Amino acid sequence: MATLTRPPLCPLLSISHTSSSPFTSQFLLPKPTKKVSPRFTHHKIFSKHGNFLDLKPEFHPEPIKFDLNWLDPTSRFRSDVIIIGTVPISGLRLAERISGFGIRVCCVDPDPLSMWPNNYGAWIDELEAIGLDDCFDKKWGMATVCINDSKTKYLDRAYGRINRKFLKLKLLESCVNNGVKFHKAKVWNVVHNEFDSMIVCDDGDELKASLVVDASGFASTFVEYDKPRNHGYQIAHGILAEVEEHPFDLDKMLLMDWRDSHLGNEPYLRASNSRTPTFLYAMPFDSNLIFLEETSLVSRPALSYMEIKKRMVARLRHLGIRVKRVIEEEKCLIPMGGPLPRIPQRVMGVGGTAGLVHPSTGYMVARTLALAPVLGDAIAECLGSTRMIRGKPLSHRVWNGLWPLEKRWTRECYSFGMETLLKLDLDGTRGFFDAFFDLDPHYWQGFLSSRLSVMELATLSFSLFGHASNPSRFDIVTKCPVPLVKLMGNLALESI
Ligand SMILES: Cc1cc2nc3c(=O)[nH]c(=O)nc-3n(C[C@H](O)[C@H](O)[C@H](O)COP(=O)(O)OP(=O)(O)OC[C@H]3O[C@@H](n4cnc5c(N)ncnc54)[C@H](O)[C@@H]3O)c2cc1C
Repeated sequence: MATLTRPPLCPLLSISHTSSSPFTSQFLLPKPTKKVSPRFTHHKIFSKHGNFLDLKPEFHPEPIKFDLNWLDPTSRFRSDVIIIGTVPISGLRLAERISGFGIRVCCVDPDPLSMWPNNYGAWIDELEAIGLDDCFDKKWGMATVCINDSKTKYLDRAYGRINRKFLKLKLLESCVNNGVKFHKAKVWNVVHNEFDSMIVCDDGDELKASLVVDASGFASTFVEYDKPRNHGYQIAHGILAEVEEHPFDLDKMLLMDWRDSHLGNEPYLRASNSRTPTFLYAMPFDSNLIFLEETSLVSRPALSYMEIKKRMVARLRHLGIRVKRVIEEEKCLIPMGGPLPRIPQRVMGVGGTAGLVHPSTGYMVARTLALAPVLGDAIAECLGSTRMIRGKPLSHRVWNGLWPLEKRWTRECYSFGMETLLKLDLDGTRGFFDAFFDLDPHYWQGFLSSRLSVMELATLSFSLFGHASNPSRFDIVTKCPVPLVKLMGNLALESI
């Protein structure tokens, strides 16, 4: 069994590590165009088209080497809980938690040891609050938001990149120590009896448990909805790249760069960016190694992937960032918002299947890690007790444990945030974030981390209106009545 030693950084992060940046902290100040040095004119040194798009990612996360307790389907082992989908953080974290109560858990996934492919980021305080702040491989003391060419906001909140391998090993180790079984298969179907449920796997195995939890992501067909799924979509293209140089401070991560000066010579792209804006998100690891992601915060229908890549090419060229090697590539499509699944229902959801993605930001990792204990406790209360709560009462308890009424109301408010963002063009979006990050940190931080109560969200809305510029107020008044009416309607429906 692999042992959990600290910290197994991505090997590629050891390319070169310099502690100080040759660039100054002015990188986001109103000086957008960095002069491209003459040596950068030889585009073909780097790639055929003078951009990074034809460079192939060199690194594909390899499966983890770890001895799991594999399920012997012919044995008499009977699970209390089956979790479908254990590659994602949500499934494994829940397995770790409930197995700690002595509940027998079996995790079913086509490839339980595969690595998480994405570059997950989170606010440091979010993981600190749940004792997982050792799970970052890089921390930045501050974050920056570039509103336009002349305005940059410095956010006094530390951010980090999650160390995927370390976190996965940590969760796997606890699971194995707690006796969690793993089964390598894809689940085809879930059948419910009065007091238990059975999954049917693609290898022909049929496994029974008192509760089936679905952590298999948005495409799942096991969790049911009774309302149309009108998601917004976050779509992004990201690369972990070795670059000649980049203009960003090494001690700050770039949360959002809404500048559009790179589109000066691209009238078509500039016009479409004005209607459906994208921003740059960047994690600078050192002066040559950086994660760069062009992101559409939310669009409906999703912005085209090709459009995002073209904007990113133009932006990097304008910033003088020449990509030498693409180390990893990240294609991101996250459905956001939309209705919650029908509550309650026999299959319990966790992660994307339970509506845990933040409707206005697309973040989910920290929230899922924090909520697994809440869900785990509700499950343990039913299955771990002598009361032996099973069947419908069990699913009723666990769904309501995860989504009590107040939480459903707050989710409606976060979804209203998404609907508002969907209505804003580039200028409106800039105005929104300009006002948003001027709020008291309790509010903007609480909003981003889904921590606010309904009353606090109401205060935030009034305060946001107060901080907004006149054009932004006009936007809110003219563009938000429909989402507002929807919000009121949904709040009323949830309360019935
Ligand atoms: C590129 C990208 C970057 C992201 N970055 C961040 C970030 O920086 N911070 C953050 O907080 N969030 C981030 N997110 C998180 C995002 O909000 C959610 O992680 C994700 O979109 C939903 O995750 P999930 O756990 O529900 O399921 P998924 O991640 O979709 O995983 C589902 C898993 O279930 C398994 N599975 C599927 N079907 C079956 C089946 N039939 N039987 C058995 N197993 C099955 C598969 O193995 C699959 O791995 C990112 C997402 C993406 C896509």
